[in-house]
Amino acid sequence: MQITESILAQVEARNPAEPEFLQAVREVVDSVGLVLERHPEYRAARIMERIVEPERVVIFRVPWVDDQGTVQVNRGFRIEMNSALGPYKGGLRFHPSVNLGILKFLAFEQVFKNALTTLPLGGGKGGSDFDPKGKSDAEVMRFCQSFMTELARHIGPHTDVPAGDIGVGGREIGFLFGQYKRLANEFTGVLTGKGFGWGGSLIRPEATGYGAVYFAAEMLATRDDSLEGKTCLVSGSGNVAQFTVEKLIDLGATAVTLSDSSGFIHDPAGIDAEKLAWVMELKNERRGRIREYAEHFPGVTYTAADPGLDHNPLWAVPAACAFPSATQNEINASDAKNLLAGGCFVVSEGANMPSVPDAVELFIGAGILYGPGKAANAGGVAVSGLEMAQNAGMTQWTRETVDHRLRDIMVEIHLACVGASERFGTPGNYVNGANIAGFLKVADAMLDQGVV
Ligand code: NDP
Repeated sequence: MQITESILAQVEARNPAEPEFLQAVREVVDSVGLVLERHPEYRAARIMERIVEPERVVIFRVPWVDDQGTVQVNRGFRIEMNSALGPYKGGLRFHPSVNLGILKFLAFEQVFKNALTTLPLGGGKGGSDFDPKGKSDAEVMRFCQSFMTELARHIGPHTDVPAGDIGVGGREIGFLFGQYKRLANEFTGVLTGKGFGWGGSLIRPEATGYGAVYFAAEMLATRDDSLEGKTCLVSGSGNVAQFTVEKLIDLGATAVTLSDSSGFIHDPAGIDAEKLAWVMELKNERRGRIREYAEHFPGVTYTAADPGLDHNPLWAVPAACAFPSATQNEINASDAKNLLAGGCFVVSEGANMPSVPDAVELFIGAGILYGPGKAANAGGVAVSGLEMAQNAGMTQWTRETVDHRLRDIMVEIHLACVGASERFGTPGNYVNGANIAGFLKVADAMLDQGVV
């Protein structure tokens, strides 16, 4: 495996302070080693060396004025990673932890994920270290307007089409779109996740969570099993977590946990539709904390996050399935062991790269159904692609149409992963399957398009 080692050494030397990016690259390079051996044409064209280098990175100042009249300064980013398959596409994240390395990891993952969707989408990601928590609507609006004032010159409906991610939901997309429209003097599908009344797609808010559940159902079907009656752990309580729970309820499973960065709730009776509606109101309208769930509903325990612990007790709750839906590296090796000890045999990742490499190794070693984020959470970007198609056709599809197409795409992605993992000698390994299937599609397009 000399080729892969020399590629990794180069990437490490060139990006020394970007651990998350290196983690994401290492995983893909490990998976495609055999592909590179079998395909000298990819090596000759230095496809892998080009894929790990963003086509363009934009970093900019975002000055804004808070409600007290004080000038604040944040940093904005857009990583335009790869456009071999279509315009750059990927979300914007507003969170204090955002830095160049985290966004490069997300943009890199996005390239392969988007390739898996079967839609003509390149890969990108962006965001800011701005923290929307505790800010007024007016502050969020002023920040979004300043952010878009610079970003606008780099994006466009055929160039780069951002969407939401952590900290960027319907409210932020609205403010960002309004400012883009004003600057560009045109009403185009330059962002996805728009409100339904002004160009959004039905099912876009639901898509990532629904997709992760559909992917789990497909994995279970390979063992003649289903989600019906299964106890499930869900982390996070934002967009992805909420609609994961909604679809689990739909398919007869029982979600028993939710979390935020302060702690998690365990509701052994299950989060039913009524409780979920309460959570949506708490999180999306009142912007409250998940702790309040335990104060409101009887029989629920709340466990505050303890940074001193070497594991997250949420993952020690016995359950058959886990849907990590908060953030990267939220499942470490101790958590993976606890999950396996608690009877978990399905992990479908709503979040991006939520499991550290040692945890992934434990899951694969144990032979459980492990669906990595770039396959399992691709439903969000897939419906973003469908939103672009609707915008381009000046039309809006019904809920049923979009949901069917989402379901079909998740089935296709599952099949592509299974097929690629078998062709390259690791049947049942969805990590290799997703990485290889995504890589092949991008690599072939790059070969066709020459050295650019
Ligand atoms: P939201 O902002 O709606 O929700 C994020 C949730 O995760 C919140 O409950 C938040 O808690 C929690 N969280 C965030 N950061 C941390 C942290 N460092 N530690 C513990 N909890 C944390 O984001 P989304 O639901 O949109 O995104 C969740 C994950 O899904 C991310 O990994 C994202 O990249 C991925 N994803 C999202 C897609 C989408 O369509 N939205 C598409 C594909 C993947 P708190 O409120 O305390 O911060």
